[in-house]
Amino acid sequence: MRAEAGVELSMDSRNADLAEKITGLKGKRNAVILAHNYQRGEVQDIADFVGDSLELSQIAAKTDADVIVFCGVHFMAETASILSPDKTVLLPDIKAGCPMADMATAEAVRKKKEELPDATVVCYVNSSAEVKAESDLCCTSANAIRLIERLDAEEILFIPDQYLGHYVSTKTNKRIILWPGFCPTHSRIQAGHITRLRESHPNARVVVHPECQSDVIALADETLSTSGMCRYARESDAEEIVVGTEAGIIHRLRKENPNKTFIHVYEQAVCPNMKLITLEKVLRSLEEMAPQVKVPEDVRVRAKGAVDRMLEVSG
Ligand code: SF4
Repeated sequence: MRAEAGVELSMDSRNADLAEKITGLKGKRNAVILAHNYQRGEVQDIADFVGDSLELSQIAAKTDADVIVFCGVHFMAETASILSPDKTVLLPDIKAGCPMADMATAEAVRKKKEELPDATVVCYVNSSAEVKAESDLCCTSANAIRLIERLDAEEILFIPDQYLGHYVSTKTNKRIILWPGFCPTHSRIQAGHITRLRESHPNARVVVHPECQSDVIALADETLSTSGMCRYARESDAEEIVVGTEAGIIHRLRKENPNKTFIHVYEQAVCPNMKLITLEKVLRSLEEMAPQVKVPEDVRVRAKGAVDRMLEVSG
C-alpha cells in the first residue's frame, strides 16, 4: 500500500512540475491549450478548454492566441487549422490519428460521388480535411439528425461512420447511404456489457455514444454526443450513470459531478490514439513549436465551406 501511495505521490509531483512548466511556456507563446473529452485526466487538467472537437476549434478561433495546442487526434488539429488559418496549430504527437477518419479517403469519396451523382454528401466531423473538402456539409454527433432532417435532399451519402449514419437513418425518412467506416474503440462496446451492468446496477441510467453499434444503442436510455453526456450528467436527476463511450470522459464527468456515480461501460473502450498525448509531449511541442498541422489553403477553403454550411443549416 505504501509503495503504491509513494508512486502516486511522485507521479503527482512530476505532473505538477510539468504543468507548471507548460503554464509558463504557454504564456510566453501566447498559446491556448485544448483537450478533447477523451484525453488523459492530467492533460484535461492543464487545458484551458475541455470539450468535443468542433466546439474546441470554434472556441480557439475566437481567442486572440497565436498558438493552439490541440490535445486530441490529427483531424481535430486540422479542424482547428481550418477555422484558424492564421494561428499555429500544434499536435503534441503527430502519430495521434483516427482509424475511423482514415477509413474514408478523398479519392474514394470522389469515386463514390460519381456513382451517386444525386446524393448530398454529409461528413461527420471525424474525417480528414481533404474529405471535408469533398463534402457538401459537415455534421457532429450532436447535430446530425437535426441537420439531415432540415436538408433539402432525399438521398444522403453519410461518411465515414456507418453506426452514426445508421442511428441517424432510424430517426429520419431520408435515404441514407452508409460508408463502411467505424470507430474501433466504440466497436469494442458490446450489448452484453450493457445487459450485465443493468443487472449489477439496476438503478443506473445508461447513456451511449452514437458511434456504438445499433444493438448497444437499442439497450441504452439515451444516445448522446460527449457534450450531450456532460449536459445530461449535470442536468438530469440520475445519480448513477453507465457511460458508453471512450474512458477519458469519466475524468471530466466525475470532476464536474462529484456527488454522482459514473460507471465506465467496458475497461477496454480506450482509444490508444487519444492516449498518445502526454504532459511531456505537450511541453515538448511548446518548446519546439512542433509538430505543426497546417491544412493547405485550397483544401482549407473547401473544407471550411462544408463547416459553414453545417452552421447555416443547423442554425
Ligand atoms: S475514439 Fe474512435 S473516433 Fe475517436 S479518435 Fe479514437 S478511433 Fe477515432
